[in-house]
Amino acid sequence: MHDSIPYGRHEIDDEDVAAVVDVLRGDWLTTGPAVEGFEHSFSELVGAEHAVAVNNGTAALHLAMLAARVGPGDEVIVPTFTFAASANAARYVGATVVFCDVRPDTLGIDVEQAARLVSQRTKAVVVVDYAGIPCELDAIMELAEKHGLVVIEDACHAIGATYRGRRIGSVAHLSTFSFHPVKHLTTGEGGMVTTADAELNRRLRRLRNHGIDSDFRQRESAGTWEYDVIELGFNFRMSDINAALGASQVRKVSGWVERRRELASQYQDLLRNLPLTMLVEPGHVRASWHLFPVMLNQRGATNQRAEVFASLRAAGVGVNVHYRPLHLHTAFRTDGAEQRFPVAEAAYGRLLSLPMWHGLSDAEQARVVNELARSLVVGGTSRAV
Ligand SMILES: *Cc1c(COP(=O)(O)O)cnc(C)c1O
Repeated sequence: MHDSIPYGRHEIDDEDVAAVVDVLRGDWLTTGPAVEGFEHSFSELVGAEHAVAVNNGTAALHLAMLAARVGPGDEVIVPTFTFAASANAARYVGATVVFCDVRPDTLGIDVEQAARLVSQRTKAVVVVDYAGIPCELDAIMELAEKHGLVVIEDACHAIGATYRGRRIGSVAHLSTFSFHPVKHLTTGEGGMVTTADAELNRRLRRLRNHGIDSDFRQRESAGTWEYDVIELGFNFRMSDINAALGASQVRKVSGWVERRRELASQYQDLLRNLPLTMLVEPGHVRASWHLFPVMLNQRGATNQRAEVFASLRAAGVGVNVHYRPLHLHTAFRTDGAEQRFPVAEAAYGRLLSLPMWHGLSDAEQARVVNELARSLVVGGTSRAV
């Protein structure tokens, strides 16, 4: 029996450990220089004017909604095919979520459908770079321009990706990232919001710190105790412990993205003759492959995906399914009107995320491919491969 191959995982080296230990022995455990340093190196990585560190990717989305002044009575268009946090953030601020379907080739938002969903009340649109493939940002920014909408890009899968040569994190009005251990780089828990807008930057910083006009370190250096709570804010701060880990990881992430791209291209080659469909990386983007999802070709009425999933898990291959569309979840079901999003629903019925992370070896990848081929043949769905 082999060790299990995880679908994704983090890597911490001695340098990362030393960076965290330094902070633990120092004066600042939070709101200190390590947070500032991490914000600086992350903004350089993604080409953003401003980067604001927070305590997780969900807080980053929540903060983006607050900074964009999305609130009760507003509608926010969100693709149904995403993680719950992309839509929850709109609900935290009292807005109404309007779900949108995705396009079949990339499973990114269907911009034409989004255009038809815009109403008088639409305030923002959330777009998700599923698996690390940037969505159609030119068309989205144009739509936003036309209707005065704020674009919040949930870029949790897309660290290191580019769209027409522009780095993800520098294109939308607000972009959000997560540093959960399964993402491209980790801080344990953590997140970031990036923006080019100085006013949004100021609001993000204030709102992550209770709505206060200054932070402790600024008051220390100004020699004052005085502060003003300007508006209702939250404690979404990242600690210096987490930030030190993030800053150390940022130095390595470009190489990790390269390895993910190499693994993706090897998968595309190795899986070419199997009865499944892979996502398309459009020529004008550079995907960063947080996930490597495949869609099994249809076979009658039986749930082939369940069989293949069970067989791969039994063989120690850590497959997963991203995502069950949000409109199918209990918490998002609307009263009365049943909503249908055929592309997301069809994809969900066929999807499997294969192991994808920078530490996956070629030998492990070959094992994943062999087990997948075997389980498809056993299921009677494939000609011999
Ligand atoms: C991981 C993720 C989030 C949430 O990030 P957390 O840091 O876990 O809160 C939000 N959206 C997407 C698409 C994600 O993958």
